[in-house]
Amino acid sequence: MRDETDRTYVITGASRGIGRGIAEALGREGGTVVVNYRSSEAAAYDVADTITDAGGTAIAVQADVSEFDQVQAMKEHVHETVGPVDVLVNNAGITADRKFSNMTREEWDSVIDVNLGGVFNCTKAFFEDIKQTDAGRLINISSVIGRQGNYGQANYAAAKSGLFGFTRSIALELASSGSTANCVAPGYTSTEMVDEVPEKIQERIRDDIPLDRFADVDDIAAAVSFLASEDTSYVTGEVIDVNGGLDV
Ligand code: NAP
Repeated sequence: MRDETDRTYVITGASRGIGRGIAEALGREGGTVVVNYRSSEAAAYDVADTITDAGGTAIAVQADVSEFDQVQAMKEHVHETVGPVDVLVNNAGITADRKFSNMTREEWDSVIDVNLGGVFNCTKAFFEDIKQTDAGRLINISSVIGRQGNYGQANYAAAKSGLFGFTRSIALELASSGSTANCVAPGYTSTEMVDEVPEKIQERIRDDIPLDRFADVDDIAAAVSFLASEDTSYVTGEVIDVNGGLDV
């Protein structure tokens, strides 16, 4: 088995929020971190610099995960510059909330295309790498909303619960190689995505959380680091809920 510090990690949507937290946590493990972003170039380079300044290795690579050809180009760039990938974290995600009676076809498509189509595109790109390496890992970032559904989030809930079946299926297809596929389902986490929710609604949500706070990105990154570890070789097809004790 290769040394842990030789591993290559791709984290989609790593220019801020949970993806940034995951990239920095995996950067501390050693190895090489690929920081994917769609449009926030300066922020993505800042993440890569932060990892490098802390003694790690990182590159930033632009690709809209919902665009198959851009993801293929990212794969080629990653292969040319750092080689095959050991761990893929499908984190990039968006919301376009509206109650179903008013939800447009465009709002449905945009959320499905990024949150589910992007997972297809990136997994397709790096599936053979993950299968062929020692201790390959696919980690998909779902959501508590995939468990519970939510008013105004039919598109997002459909995409996030779709990841459960996708992950379980890929786990079965990877199993003969010894590589694993799992989901992390974060609860409400302090990022720009949650900042967009009106403060009154945030208060109501917080009141329902047994641990009485939103997650920090580090809470989510810790679960991802656990699943990414070479030691976690007998956990596959699972969903780890990181939601402060909500009853899902
Ligand atoms: P965020 O702060 O809005 O950050 C989203 C990240 O995804 C950004 O880096 C953004 O990059 C990137 N991104 C968006 N669309 C992309 C695309 N088409 N291609 C590539 N990158 C793209 O979100 P977050 O709160 O950190 O959420 C991260 C993940 O956790 C998402 O999958 C989300 O659904 C999930 N999640 C979040 C929460 C929460 O409470 N925050 C809870 C449960 C699950 P650019 O700026 O470059 O576009």
